[in-house]
Amino acid sequence: MTKRLMIVDDSPVMRAFVRRTILVTGLPASGFLEASNGAEALAHLRSGTTGVDLILTDINMPVLDGEDFLRELKRDPALAAIPVVVVSTDSTEQRVGALLRLGASDYVRKPFPPERLAEVLCQLLPDWGPEECPETGPETGQKKGASL
Ligand SMILES: [Mg+2]
Repeated sequence: MTKRLMIVDDSPVMRAFVRRTILVTGLPASGFLEASNGAEALAHLRSGTTGVDLILTDINMPVLDGEDFLRELKRDPALAAIPVVVVSTDSTEQRVGALLRLGASDYVRKPFPPERLAEVLCQLLPDWGPEECPETGPETGQKKGASL
């Protein structure tokens, strides 16, 4: 079953990198949505035109950063159930703990290998079964011969 993922990051290069990394894993993600900060992401999500199955967000962004974005999202009953994965270099235990308490589902430290992202997505998208997420191991979720 294909899934629609939203990538929130102020760096277009990082958004492209995350998108490409997900494609490399071979997971059936479709229709990537992108936003350059939390405010843009919320506006898009609240427009309700397209459903989003999972959000990957940066922390440090202008206008509305990842932490405030997460806070607002979890306060909105229409959006609170969407799993949010924080993708950042800011990985002190204190920071990660605060984000998880705010409702983040998981945390991926930059830089990350495709397998790490595949592992997190497979855990959070339960309708992806063994067909989408092959057996665990060093090549989890990664198609043979795929490369960045
Ligand atoms: Mg940033």
